[in-house]
Amino acid sequence: MNIRIGNGYDIHCLVPDRPLILGGVNIPHELGLLGHSDADVLTHAIMDAMLGALSLGDIGHYFPPTDPKWKGADSLVLLEQVNQLILDKGWEIGNIDSVIVAERPKLKPHIHQMRDRLSDVLKVNPDQIGVKATTNEKLGPVGREEGIAAYAVVLLVLK
Ligand code: MG
Repeated sequence: MNIRIGNGYDIHCLVPDRPLILGGVNIPHELGLLGHSDADVLTHAIMDAMLGALSLGDIGHYFPPTDPKWKGADSLVLLEQVNQLILDKGWEIGNIDSVIVAERPKLKPHIHQMRDRLSDVLKVNPDQIGVKATTNEKLGPVGREEGIAAYAVVLLVLK
């Protein structure tokens, strides 16, 4: 088999006095995501999808939240490490598709920059990375703006 597929999901709580970082982009908002690292929920979902595609476990295994080393970590640095792991095993990214679920703020103006940041780190073309945003129609914890969630699917191809 020369293709593998993986999916990833993540959610983080929205709290005051934290930055809102999605896909490596700092987005102006009165709330930010809580987490041990920078809590970049989109990048975390993408990493889990990449690891899942090769049955390599999840990001908690490689970057445990109990390890002080990862406190405040830039998730793009972690993404680079996950990508290297995949390259070392002889695979590369075919494409990624993802969805951020957030009631606010409006993410559309930032999507282009997220794709640029992620593709820079992953050394792929921006058109290999899909980032979409939707609201949760005010339903559930995401709809009440208690958190932001992200889903990602990745296709890996044998180099
Ligand atoms: Mg996470």
